[in-house]
Amino acid sequence: MTHRVLVTDAVAVSGLGPLVDEETIELVSVDDSASEEFVSALRTADALIVRSATRVTRELLSLAPRLKAVGRAGVGVDNVDLPAASERGVAVFNAPGGNTIAAAELTIALLISVARKIPAAEASLRSGLWDRAAFKGVELRGKTLGLIGAGRIGSEVAVRCQAFEMDVITYDPYLSPARADELGVEMVSLDKVIERSDFVSIHVPLNDETRGLIASDALGRMKPTAFVVNASRGGVVDETALTKALHNGDIAGAALDVYESEPLAADSPLRDAPNLVLTPHLGASTAEAQVNVATEVAEKIRILIETGSLSDAVNASDLG
Ligand code: NAD
Repeated sequence: MTHRVLVTDAVAVSGLGPLVDEETIELVSVDDSASEEFVSALRTADALIVRSATRVTRELLSLAPRLKAVGRAGVGVDNVDLPAASERGVAVFNAPGGNTIAAAELTIALLISVARKIPAAEASLRSGLWDRAAFKGVELRGKTLGLIGAGRIGSEVAVRCQAFEMDVITYDPYLSPARADELGVEMVSLDKVIERSDFVSIHVPLNDETRGLIASDALGRMKPTAFVVNASRGGVVDETALTKALHNGDIAGAALDVYESEPLAADSPLRDAPNLVLTPHLGASTAEAQVNVATEVAEKIRILIETGSLSDAVNASDLG
């Protein structure tokens, strides 16, 4: 029996090796999930692989009567209606590890960009100026990095910042002391991260505990020389409070890769905030990560098709 796996959102085909090599699996690739061709392919699909463009809604699921699995080639499953998938017995898989290095390296790029004012200096130079005085930065060496969240990405950021001779402290209530020891990071309270850090870097999931974690109260208690970097999920940093803190000079600068609402509105006040580096959710945008995440979900879907194993599914506990 042939199993049909529908792939959309320009998922990296070179990462789909685990499925390509299987004789019983047929890959169907339709990049535009708004097209008629996609809707028609959904009718006979046994599995669907998406990135972030396609919203796997209840309605989309109802158009796919044979669907047994949805793979999200990335970390979050925000674009998949999990309750609707579980009700229909559709297993949902993600690829939590494939983006880790890409996101950690982007974090370092943002840290250095904001500390050395690189984007502003570059824009100034391109505008015809040669203004060296306006762009004096600060060094990382000897500074304290405060990690909020020291999971996969946070710990890779720790290792890289230690190479820059930074001291790393972390607030992560779920981190074991043994893991903190192994990473050479000091476990402290959220208050201590806020008060002691020269750079605060956020690497937590967005949930009720973390929404608005960095808002006016926290920003007001940071050092006026501190920088905040968020390449985790929009909403963890309150954008209105951050904009205000930057205009008031409550902190020295910030860098954001993720936003409360994406794409960022053209008239978002963030676009005019001083000392702020903005990137359009590029954390996972490396050639390597796109291949890694595709391979990770392709492998999980292959295992499901071959063995029926649901254990890796994000919604495993809700499937009968
Ligand atoms: P992870 O699950 O490995 O690590 C998250 C860490 O946060 C865990 O150690 C957990 O204990 C900790 N944590 C949970 N709740 C917390 C809280 N209330 N306070 C402090 N710590 C808390 O996840 P990860 O792979 O490291 O990803 C981190 C974040 O980065 C996620 O939000 C993920 O979606 C995001 N991400 C963004 C991009 C991007 O493109 N910018 C790419 C990949 C991942």
